[in-house]
Amino acid sequence: MPRKTIAKINLEAIKSNYQLAKKLAPNSNNIAVIKANAYGHGSLKVAETLEPMVPAFAVALFEEAVALRDSGISKPILILQGVRTSEEIKYSIANDFWLMLHSPLQVDKLVEIEIPSSMKLWLKLDTGMHRLGLDSQQFITACRSLNVSHQNSQQIILCSHFYCASEIKNSFNQKQLNAFWKIVSSVNKDKLMKTSFANSAAIMGFPDSHLDWNRPGIMLYGVSPFDKSHPNDKYLQPAMSFTSEVIDLHHIKTGESVGYSQQWTANRNSTIATIAVGYADGYPFHAKNGTPLLISGQSANLVGRVSMDLITADVTDCNNVQIGDMVELWGDNVSVEIVAKHSDTIGYELLTGISKRVSKTYI
Ligand SMILES: *Cc1c(COP(=O)(O)O)cnc(C)c1O
Repeated sequence: MPRKTIAKINLEAIKSNYQLAKKLAPNSNNIAVIKANAYGHGSLKVAETLEPMVPAFAVALFEEAVALRDSGISKPILILQGVRTSEEIKYSIANDFWLMLHSPLQVDKLVEIEIPSSMKLWLKLDTGMHRLGLDSQQFITACRSLNVSHQNSQQIILCSHFYCASEIKNSFNQKQLNAFWKIVSSVNKDKLMKTSFANSAAIMGFPDSHLDWNRPGIMLYGVSPFDKSHPNDKYLQPAMSFTSEVIDLHHIKTGESVGYSQQWTANRNSTIATIAVGYADGYPFHAKNGTPLLISGQSANLVGRVSMDLITADVTDCNNVQIGDMVELWGDNVSVEIVAKHSDTIGYELLTGISKRVSKTYI
């Protein structure tokens, strides 16, 4: 009998979320970000589903792009971290990968190689995040050398990345955009080069940042970058439903505790359901007492510490919970954002943390 701890992925939801990105930014090209195994949803399945709708995909790593190409994905794939060697550049040319260039080293390697006109070069300006990206002087130099060496400004995309876009009122968003335009207009007077800035949060909440190319990621999976506080959140459809089952029930008395290190003690006679999922499956170890879950359609709360293979829930107030009952850990009813909040993390980490032990099914 197959294990009932599964992640069910709704591919129609992912399509609908991509359509939402397009609708919110109708004048931009929207490149589907499917790094980290499509945020835990299975990059090949997600790529196959979106391929007819998208101009291109983006992944973080060269290796992720290779795996998708080897599996038959044919649309261009942007590598957000770019490449490390000339061999990887040659492989990228042969395989229709696009490169994001964030360091002078990467730019220098490219200038030496003949680049086909189909290959887009994404030149990343650091506008304040100070993680990856060229400073303004390096950026201007890189624009010049690439433009001169390749004589085709259409293939250069000037880009940057927000670091506070999920905080919609944060004034740094506008400051970053202003810093970007200041440098970009100085190198791009004829407006021949294309531009890109917005991630999901900016697509959903900052229309001024919708440039030639947007890069939606988390929103494709139906997760709000805003902690469910933005009016556009209601249009997102959660794509992952992470479920398990009750495999044991215990009746305990007032004053007795549950799980490792006595992290929860009953203040009344209680019924405890034991559920076949733990941190080795990707349920967050840091989920606190009171994290919501749904057992056979009834709300219940996590109690006790999360174990490697098991969690426990207080079902005293539920009706007739039985061994074998289905438990929604997150999905349509219990949002991954809520579980993340109770675990001092973000939805991104929970989705990408689903482990290999959890089988995926697709609808
Ligand atoms: C991951 C990533 C994105 C997508 O971000 P979301 O917040 O998931 O929409 C866009 N651009 C870059 C450079 C990224 O690394």
